[in-house]
Amino acid sequence: MAIIQCIVCGKRISNKAESCSHCGAKLRGTTEEQLERAAHLQRLRKNRRLQSLSFIAVIAFAAGFLLKFFSPGDNVDIWEKVSLYLMAAGFLGYVVMRVWIMLNKRK
Ligand SMILES: [Zn+2]
Repeated sequence: MAIIQCIVCGKRISNKAESCSHCGAKLRGTTEEQLERAAHLQRLRKNRRLQSLSFIAVIAFAAGFLLKFFSPGDNVDIWEKVSLYLMAAGFLGYVVMRVWIMLNKRK
């Protein structure tokens, strides 16, 4: 028994397996072309998910930015903190997602 890489998800599986135990891709009776297409679709779907996550990060950043200037209350200290956290989380999240998307594309 040898360990090979699943063409679709890239995880390590047995070459005797009928299908990938991680993503469920059929490995027998499937042409190279079908597997390629499945892998492509999987990447696209992952990309879309990452893109919507990075969009959420941008929104968090923008919300934090707005909160900083339009604090909805007298308790400015707390809103200042909340806005800082939101901006930091949004910024970090955005950077992480971008790097992730780049890595995902290169594969
Ligand atoms: Zn797989």
